[in-house]
Amino acid sequence: MVILDGKATADSIKAEIAAEVEKIIESGGKRPHLAAILVGSDGASMTYVGHKESACKRVGFDSTVIRLDETISQNDLLEEIEKINNNSSVDGLIVQLPLPKHIDEQKVIESIDPKKDVDGFHPVNVGKMVLGLPSFISATPAGILELLIRYGVETSGKHCVIIGRSNIVGKPMANLLSLKANPGDCTVTMCHSRTKNLKEHTLNADIIIAALGVPGFLKGDMVKEGAVVIDVGITRVEADTKTGFRLAGDVLFDEVAPKCSYITPVPGGVGPMTIISLLKNTLKASLLK
Ligand code: NAD
Repeated sequence: MVILDGKATADSIKAEIAAEVEKIIESGGKRPHLAAILVGSDGASMTYVGHKESACKRVGFDSTVIRLDETISQNDLLEEIEKINNNSSVDGLIVQLPLPKHIDEQKVIESIDPKKDVDGFHPVNVGKMVLGLPSFISATPAGILELLIRYGVETSGKHCVIIGRSNIVGKPMANLLSLKANPGDCTVTMCHSRTKNLKEHTLNADIIIAALGVPGFLKGDMVKEGAVVIDVGITRVEADTKTGFRLAGDVLFDEVAPKCSYITPVPGGVGPMTIISLLKNTLKASLLK
């Protein structure tokens, strides 16, 4: 069994990106610049934006965080986005989700210039991704693909079962792995909360991607010998730690890992790779100009 070490892989990719940024600067180019909009003061969102900001610094990107009050109106938020769309010094823009209930998230996503949409959530980018055209691929699926590439995990002809059909993980993952590409060329089964006999599907899977947000959902008796298991779940569960919580994945690691050919841990698996993909998309956006 091989642990797909997202932390170590992300660290080496960060060094590659930093070297590329240095080359760009030496040849008179502009530092890539990521802007993040954070609405309100949700603890997890503040932590995620903080991680993204420090990752930018580590690779030599400029980064700007625009902090807005939780009570901001939708129109005022859309105006802020428009300002960044028109600001030529910014290459990539992300709006940290979730947003307060009075704001229409889809409207916000659609207001971001697709050329700056480094989260890859805009319908233009989603559509291009489905067609296999060059686009910004959303960060978590892109990070998973990168991890599979770096470890040389074969996907062609494999049966991949994805649990969870969110717009940001499950759906793009299913589309990407079914494309005629490498990684890709999988036969994909998409499972969700209405799926019957889910265990029958997972027991037939060569690759399982668990992205449902239910800690320890995937158990040892749901996985066949030799499967590749990717655990996307991150749930804060109460624990006797300094912070009062620990991060739990969707996979019951101790039971599942001994049966696997490859498996990602939580933390240190998919999470660090997600941030890397955001950096890669920002670098790409800056070079497309
Ligand atoms: P979501 O929370 O929007 O949706 C959950 C999905 O799981 C739904 O499609 C639902 O149908 C399915 N589901 C729920 N219960 C189920 C069950 N019992 N059986 C089968 N399917 C079930 O999904 P999301 O936003 O993709 O998040 C999923 C998890 O991944 C969360 O823990 C989230 O924190 C985590 N996540 C991690 C990263 C990362 O960088 N590692 C990125 C995004 C999301």
